[in-house]
Amino acid sequence: MDRVYNFSPGPSQLALPVLEKAQKDLLVYGDTGMSVMEMSHRSKMYTDIYDRTVADLKDLMAIPEDYEAVFLQGGATQQFSAVPLNLMVNQKADYIDSGNFAHLAAEEGKRYGEVTVVASSREDNYTYVPDVKKIKFSPDADYLHITQNNTIYGTRFTELPQSAAPLVCDASSMILSEVMDVSKYGAIYAGAQKNIGPSGLCVLIVRKDLLGKAMKICPKLLNWQVQVEKGSMYNTPNTWGIYVAGLTFQWLKEQGGVEAMEKINIEKAAMLYDFLDNSRLFRPTAQKEYRSRMNVTFVTGDADKDAAFVKAAAGAGLVNLKGHRTVGGMRASIYNAMPVEGVKKLVAFMKDFEAHNA
Ligand SMILES: *Cc1c(COP(=O)(O)O)cnc(C)c1O
Repeated sequence: MDRVYNFSPGPSQLALPVLEKAQKDLLVYGDTGMSVMEMSHRSKMYTDIYDRTVADLKDLMAIPEDYEAVFLQGGATQQFSAVPLNLMVNQKADYIDSGNFAHLAAEEGKRYGEVTVVASSREDNYTYVPDVKKIKFSPDADYLHITQNNTIYGTRFTELPQSAAPLVCDASSMILSEVMDVSKYGAIYAGAQKNIGPSGLCVLIVRKDLLGKAMKICPKLLNWQVQVEKGSMYNTPNTWGIYVAGLTFQWLKEQGGVEAMEKINIEKAAMLYDFLDNSRLFRPTAQKEYRSRMNVTFVTGDADKDAAFVKAAAGAGLVNLKGHRTVGGMRASIYNAMPVEGVKKLVAFMKDFEAHNA
């Protein structure tokens, strides 16, 4: 069977050269005589892979010297707990509620201290991101948490909030898709299964001065300082996941790095939105100003037509276009690994479907 274009929000499509390299080395990696999956995480052969992967990530994101990068488990969701456990020194934090994951992060934060939701678009079904210029931040917050790209609703922050507290960012569905000025953040975390590699892995980038402040009750595995000191290896990390992430980083470098990806991603998103803005059948659901470049959400306005579209598209090799269960409609997730060709095919298919159904 041929490979399909997979528009899944995550786990999502990986770049073909990454899969091919993993396949080629699956049984024997280099001259080690074994698969990466069979290596001790403490062996030289594996720590070489690990060190290169971290170095490539630092390189790709131009991570400054005063930051650390580690690979954790438990996905982005575990960081919803780890963030307050590591940073809530005064047990106060600000959150911006711009989507489902942002909401879940704030709810989890409440277990550990006083959470102030300083802005929210929840009442409007998250069709936009609150205007960061109008927000009044708490003067004594330990951090401000944002979800920079809202995977389910297809919106993104176009501007970063200017709070005195360190900015903590869930970048799961946008990391490495556009240039981020890491120095503007206290911490960035991202589940890997969208823009990096296989699931079961979470990248954490944290400014060094924010380490060592964890609550006494913070489980050791969730303690960022412990993870940094042990180089992600307090216990056995997701060795295979880190390896495939490393292959993705090398692939990204071959593509010209994050800057080059950002250009392509803008182009891909524009192709879809341009079509949607002029369509007689489909309409985009996110407010124009806040449209995501990674998750494009749209509807026909008729649930039966939506379902017929998703089904017909799958038949044409364009799969996983169904919107999240909480919003319905459609969502095309077009992360780094989705080639321009896949988006062209999707637009052509939508045109054809429109011609027969509008
Ligand atoms: C997918 C996603 C999550 C959840 O990630 P897990 O790795 O499943 O925990 C959290 N935040 C955002 C923005 C996401 O897109």
